[in-house]
Amino acid sequence: MKKLRSFALNERAQAGLLKELLEREGIACLLRNDQLSSALGEIPFLECLPELWVVDDEVYPRAKLLLENWLNGEEAVAEEWACPSCGEQHEGQFGACWKCGSNRET
Ligand SMILES: [Zn+2]
Repeated sequence: MKKLRSFALNERAQAGLLKELLEREGIACLLRNDQLSSALGEIPFLECLPELWVVDDEVYPRAKLLLENWLNGEEAVAEEWACPSCGEQHEGQFGACWKCGSNRET
């Protein structure tokens, strides 16, 4: 398991979104410290920052690339597409249908 990125406390929502995006790409990941802890006073502040971890080291480089693309290239994302199976509309960064699981290319 590898840590992909740490987030500032005010990036908590973004951290959750990125986790969803990665999972839709078939990349298993974990969000640590994503619950605002009531123990903030008991553990060091830095340990409370949300962290996104990739479960499988082998897909880490791909996850890293996807993350960077999402963070940097939001203007350049591919156009929307419709699922060939169920017709659901998706934003360009998604490679598979979140609704029925069909791949984009099929
Ligand atoms: Zn679909």
